[in-house]
Amino acid sequence: MESLVFSFTLLLIVAGALSAAAGVMAVQRREAAAAPAVVVCMAAGTWWALSYALLLQGAPPSPRFWLTAMFVGVILTPPAFLIFALLFAEKRRWLNRATLGVLTLQPIVVLPVLFTDAHHHLFFGPLDMSGEQPFHGGPVFWLNALYAYVVDVLAFLILVGAYRRAAPLQKRQAGILLMGALVPSVLNVFSLMLLTPTTNLDATPIGFAVTGMAMVYNLRRQGLFDLIPIARHEVFNHMSDGALVLDREGRVIDVNPAAGQLLSLTPATASGEELRGLLDQSAFATNLLALTPGEHRELRLDGNQPLTLDVRATALHTEKTRFPSLLLVLRDVTDLKRAEHALREQLAENEALQRKLRQEAIRDPLTGLYNRRFLEETLDRELARARRHGHAVAVALLDIDYFKRFNDRFGHQEGDRVLQSLAGLLQEHARSGDAACRYGGEEFVMVFPDADLEVVEERMNALRVAFAVADPDQEGVRSSFSGGIAAFPDDGADAPALLKAADRALYAAKGAGRNRVVLARAAIA
Ligand code: GH3
Ligand code: MG
Ligand code: MG
Repeated sequence: MESLVFSFTLLLIVAGALSAAAGVMAVQRREAAAAPAVVVCMAAGTWWALSYALLLQGAPPSPRFWLTAMFVGVILTPPAFLIFALLFAEKRRWLNRATLGVLTLQPIVVLPVLFTDAHHHLFFGPLDMSGEQPFHGGPVFWLNALYAYVVDVLAFLILVGAYRRAAPLQKRQAGILLMGALVPSVLNVFSLMLLTPTTNLDATPIGFAVTGMAMVYNLRRQGLFDLIPIARHEVFNHMSDGALVLDREGRVIDVNPAAGQLLSLTPATASGEELRGLLDQSAFATNLLALTPGEHRELRLDGNQPLTLDVRATALHTEKTRFPSLLLVLRDVTDLKRAEHALREQLAENEALQRKLRQEAIRDPLTGLYNRRFLEETLDRELARARRHGHAVAVALLDIDYFKRFNDRFGHQEGDRVLQSLAGLLQEHARSGDAACRYGGEEFVMVFPDADLEVVEERMNALRVAFAVADPDQEGVRSSFSGGIAAFPDDGADAPALLKAADRALYAAKGAGRNRVVLARAAIA
């Protein structure tokens, strides 16, 4: 028994020293809001542990003296713990005069009763300092114990709330504190249950050393968290994007300097004013105020220097405000838009140029008809398609009659005009899907996919008449052409064979007196 008491005393001294160290560390962290409450808690805990140790060792002047001294610590600990919990949970507004008044009432009432117990035994009850009788406690002791439990439970609930609300970064911290704070309570309940004459030992003050360590650990971190609002404020003020916070009525709650500059507002005087009244551009203000949370739009802000603003709206919910406010983040994308526009124009220009190049590559410059290269591509494609679908393709090869003579008589320029005139007629007579090409010199080719040979012959004869009307005889010189018509697959299986057959028919037309159209199959016959 002696050795148990001795070991327990040693534990109490160590715990007292640890609590004292925690108190000193809290003093060093006094910039943290909860520090003063930790100092009071730890002072009470140290006092409790050390006076308890002295009591157990029967130190002078008397056991009653040290028992009384110890209970000063016991009485002061719960309210100090509650104040700590409120400060830690950032419930400072609950720490008003009324709360503090109620919390000081307990020591004011209980401490005098404790000090004068020898006269009325209201606190300790019948006291047997030999330790052989169980400790009964007087009515004030039990009332005070009840009060202490209520206060402790309250403090716990507040810490649990803080733990649940804690951001991920702070959760571990709040958890450690909660566990630390539980230790003395658990030890206290155990001690109360085991209170017997032989084990008249209360381990609660030992648990307080653990709580103290957890509190100090938290204070060290809390110093950091005190800086978070300051850091956030700095970010708000120095971010390059404009930030504007509006209430439900469209009044400005906050503006950062960047938004002030974009919207020509003075942040200091804008707060509390209606945004609409602050902006001289009503259309812009209307668009801005029409944004709903989650929306993202580009808005134009006209003025000396028109701006394009990319605006994102987000709802802000905070504990302190009953209604959500709207955060608008404004990004000046004017330069970006300008670059984008220039790029788009450049792209359009490139595309036009490419189209032009492509046209130049497939068109004959004099007549605007397709050139020989395009004809070869088209004819191959049409023949492949005709082969797949089993339909016919007709080609007509035209050559102006006695054109050399015409040129010699009227000049090359006049000859060019005639070429252009015939090209125009070819285009007019071409139906969708037909291709009219200048084959070379004064020779032209027309391709008719899926065409009936008789119909093609008719159309060519109609074209001959039209040519004669468009370019009437000049000084007895006739404007006419001869044509040869060949059809796939009967007159040729591929493009060269087909063109050759058409050429043979054309030769036959020339031989038969010109100004006529001949079918390849008739030419062979
Ligand atoms: P034929 O009835 O037998 O076809 O007689 P032709 O004089 O037309 O003879 P051919 O077809 O051999 O003559 C082609 C002439 O077409 C030669 C040239 O003077 C003329 N020619 C070719 N290309 C051009 C051109 O781009 N412009 C002009 N003005 N004349 C051209
Ligand atoms: Mg010719
Ligand atoms: Mg000719």
